[in-house]
Formats: sequence, structure tokens, C-alpha cells
Amino acid sequence: MIYFDNAATTKPCKEAVEAVVKGLEDFGNPSSLHGMGVTAEKHREQAREIIAGALGAQSGEIYFTSCATESSNTVIFGAAKKLGKRMRRVVTTTVEHPSVAACCNKLEEEGFEVVRVAPREDGRFYPEDIISAADSSTCLVTCMLVNNETGSILPVERAFAAIKKKYPQILTHCDCVQGFMKLPVKVKKLGADFISLSAHKIHGPKGIGALYIRKGVHIPSLLLGGGQEKGFRSGTESLPLIMGFGAACGKLSGNIEERLEKAGRLRERLVRLCDETEGVYVNSKPDCLPYIVSIAAEGLKSEPLLHFLEGKGIFVSSGSACSKGKKSSVIKEFRVPDRLQDSVLRISFCDENTEEEVDELMAAIREAQGSLAKVR
Ligand code: PLP
Repeated sequence: MIYFDNAATTKPCKEAVEAVVKGLEDFGNPSSLHGMGVTAEKHREQAREIIAGALGAQSGEIYFTSCATESSNTVIFGAAKKLGKRMRRVVTTTVEHPSVAACCNKLEEEGFEVVRVAPREDGRFYPEDIISAADSSTCLVTCMLVNNETGSILPVERAFAAIKKKYPQILTHCDCVQGFMKLPVKVKKLGADFISLSAHKIHGPKGIGALYIRKGVHIPSLLLGGGQEKGFRSGTESLPLIMGFGAACGKLSGNIEERLEKAGRLRERLVRLCDETEGVYVNSKPDCLPYIVSIAAEGLKSEPLLHFLEGKGIFVSSGSACSKGKKSSVIKEFRVPDRLQDSVLRISFCDENTEEEVDELMAAIREAQGSLAKVR
């Protein structure tokens, strides 16, 4: 099996699996006062420290959630509730993941003014476009770090720094799901009040996410109840998943640059082979994160091609996993030509992929060009 769908989800690493099992065995409730509760609490805090450390944050700034979708929902609706009486504008981009985009759409329905910044003609985002969209009536600016369909890196750092300087009251949120542990994301540099993270994109388990909230910043909770997570996110903590998240994060800490270089070599090979193959185009720009490469095989529809590759044991995605085969509006935003938009494949790497696997993928695509029915 060749797995090139790591932007959809990753294989849990051995360390994460072992940590999940340990968390199931040490089954105490972290809120219990007896020894089993204390042990569970220790495990939970260890994981929190690892994740905080990876972000250069304090552990008290990390809150566990069920997924990045919950983290982003919490921030967007929380910010709107906190500041939305007087500040009715939300600034975002046209390429956000649905977990952010759908919340912004909902706020728009409720009467907020949502400004969606788009890439320019060259398919790139410019910080000044995000900066100029914010004004004194803005309650929140939410901008992803790495796009999940193309790997584009958005100029969050520069945009947030300028916005915070001019309007310190504006809250800033970054969906870092596709950038965390792939780029050296540090809270001080990023300048976000809130950061959404997900374990299953970094070889951790599914169903566990985190939300970074900068110390001193407060928004209302989405979940009320037993007061876990310092009263911010009620619900008994999923200790096994939290421990799995911590273990996965710990494993990847310390070699981000080395892994980035490896992903760069895989991307380089893929791009070279695409360039050598007639009718196969690379949509992702050279300055995108190398872990995600969007390509298009002209004349071949994404879905049949995806299943053809699956038949050869090669797993890729058409656009993003969330789009489930629907035509992606995000791909269009990144100025992929109309004639290629139905033919997009997303190849997303992890540390375990090899250059030989890239060769096999391209050999299979070339075979598909010869044997699959053309669109027209
Ligand atoms: N944000 C981005 C950029 C993603 O790629 C994803 C997952 O596809 C999410 C958010 C949602 O993460 P989760 O599955 O943890 O809710």
C-alpha cells in the first residue's frame, strides 16, 4: 500500500498507539481526588506540556477539545458573542477549511459582515489584502496557516502583526491544522490569540484536538457542564486520546526541519515527473508547503483516476477529504485553470513516504492516461 493522503489523516505512530492503550489501562477520571485520578491528571498534564512546548506556549494556554473543528467553532462563535454587539465585521479568506468557513457563513446569516480575502491573480495571498480588510468594527480575523488542498502558506504572521498593531482589540485566530509539526509554528511569532490543532494530522488519534488561547484572552465557552479544562471546555477528558496526541507530538518535535527537507525531496521528484509527463500539471506553487501537492491530469476526472490508483494500492485524494468528490471552490480560488478543475488530485506526504513510491504513483498515472476514458 502506498498512502499519499496524509492531509486527510495520518497513520497513528507506534508511540501514539501505546499511549492510547496506556490511557485506557489507567482509566481513572482526572477529576477524581483519589490516586487513580491523580495518575490520570498527571498523564493529561504531561501531554499538555508537550503540545504547549511544541508551540512555544505555556501549558495553561492549551485546552483539549474533541477536534480542530470544535476548536475553531469555539473561537469564531465565542469571539462573535464577546465582541459582536459593537464589532460586526469578521475577516477571513476564501480558502478556509469548512470548519471555519461554515461558522463565518452562519455569522453572516446572523447579520455579521464577513469579508473574505481572496488570493490575487497569481494565486497568492498578500498580507496587505488581509490587513486592509480589517477595520475598527472587526471582532475577529481568522486565517489558516497552510491550505489543506494546495499546501499554500498564507502570510498570517505579517498580517496578524500589522492588524494587532493598529487594532489591538481585534481577536486573531489561526487554523494551524496542516502546518503544526510541519512548520516551526511558534505562538510569539504567529501573533494569534487562538490556534486550532488536530491530533490525527500528526500521527495521533482521531477525535482529539487542542485550542491555544493566549494568556489573558477570554471568550465564552461552547460547552457548559462539569467545568473541566479550567471551566472552559466541560466534558470528561478523553485521557487515552489526549495521551496519544501528546505522544505523537513528542515524537515529531525536534526534527521538523529534517522532515521538511525530506518532504521537499519527495515534492521535487513528483514535480519533475509531472513536468516530464504530457497533460499532467502541478497546481501547487513552489513556495507551498511540500507536504501537500495538488496536481491535475488533464482530461481525466479526479474520481475515476483516484479509484484507478486505489486499484494499484495507491491512496490519494481528489481535492480535500471533506469535499467528497465535489468540485472544489478552493481550487478555483487558487486560479487553477477551468479545464483542470475536475481533474485535480491531492498528493500529501508524510515522513514514511519514499521517492520510489512517487515513481510508482507517476507510473500509475501514466498508465491511467492510456487506459481511462477521457472526459471529453
Ligand atoms: N482545518 C484544516 C485545514 C483541516 O485540513 C482539517 C481536516 O481536514 C480541519 C481543520 C478539521 O480537523 P478535525 O478533523 O480535527 O476537525
